[in-house]
Formats: sequence, structure tokens, C-alpha cells
Amino acid sequence: MKLVFATNNANKLKEVQALLPQNIQLLSLKEIGCFEDIPETQATIEANAKQKANYIKNNYGYDCFADDTGLEVDSLNGAPGLYSARYAGENRDANDNMDKLLNELEVHEDRSGQFKTVIALHLDDQLQTFTGICEGEITVSKHGTQGFGYDPIFKPLGFEHTFAEMSIEDKNRIGHRGKAIQLLVQYLNSKS
Ligand code: IMP
Repeated sequence: MKLVFATNNANKLKEVQALLPQNIQLLSLKEIGCFEDIPETQATIEANAKQKANYIKNNYGYDCFADDTGLEVDSLNGAPGLYSARYAGENRDANDNMDKLLNELEVHEDRSGQFKTVIALHLDDQLQTFTGICEGEITVSKHGTQGFGYDPIFKPLGFEHTFAEMSIEDKNRIGHRGKAIQLLVQYLNSKS
């Protein structure tokens, strides 16, 4: 079975392919000739993931899964959430995004928040979602050099270090994306 993972990130693709049953062959967007920006115009992370999976099914005919992730900070009513990538502007700069978030939080005592990943799977004419959540808090300054995005300022609950101070294996085991992928893989394994 051929299944599209709506990403151009070769590392993500390889990581997930290694966890799937051998009869499932993952295809990237490039491999199906999809080079345009897929619309992400919905009001929630769930709806955006579904929109992306539906777009591939409707325009390219392949079964597909797509992921969408956001960092939701409690005292900021869930911001940056849907806008995590471009919180500080359209150039999507991770340092600017972190600086803005640290700045916003200066006046708040509660620094708790969560990363949420939703994977939407369009398979056999059914659309379903798998959600991974990682609770934690925003640190007062940046720590660590691993990872990407908000990793240097996110400390998962029960841990003394930020994501950026952890190995990729540890982050995947306890992280939002890893959890959502585990649920997807369990489901696909149960179907084959
Ligand atoms: P995407 O939906 O995976 O593209 O994620 C949207 C944005 O959320 C990214 O551009 C990052 O700013 C942030 N983000 C997503 N996942 C992570 C993560 O694992 N660590 C830190 N930041 C992340």
C-alpha cells in the first residue's frame, strides 16, 4: 500500500517509515509531484491537519496523513497555538518567536503550557485523527542547542531539562509528535 506523508522533511519521513509495517510504502510530497503550498486556513490545529490530508486525497488521489503542531500557553489563552511558526512574523524565525514568547510571559506567573500534535489520516475513505500532547512549562531563558523551534524554552513536565537539552530519542519518546506517531503506527499495524 502506498501512503503519502504530507511533508517534505526527509528525516521525519525516514523516522516514520522505519516504524511502519513493510507493506506500507511512504511517499513524500515531492514523490507525488506536489510542489505547491498546501492550504492551512482553518481555525484549529485539528482542522488544519484534516485540511492537508483531504487536499492530497482530493487533488492527487492518494491516501495520506498530515500533521500539524502548536504550542499552547495557558496564561496566553492558548497562544501562540495555530500561529506557532510565525508568532513573531512571517519570516518564521525561531529565535524571534522565543524572544516574543519570553517577553509576553514576563508579566505572568503561570508559565505552564503544552505542545499538541494532531495527525489526520485519510485512509479507505475515512478520516481520523491521532493526538499527542506533551505538558510542560516555558523556562525564563533559553537552554540547550538540540532540536528546533521552541525547544530551548520548553521544559516537559517531570523533567529538569528543556527539549533542546535532550537527545532526539528521549524527546521522541515523551514528546507530542512522537506520541501522535506512535498512535498512528499502532493503528496502521492493526490494519495490516
Ligand atoms: P509544524 O506544524 O510541525 O510545522 O509546527 C509548527 C511550529 O510549531 C514550528 O514552526 C515550530 O515553531 C513549533 N514546533 C512544532 N514542533 C515543535 C517541537 O517539537 N519543538 C519546538 N517547536 C516546535
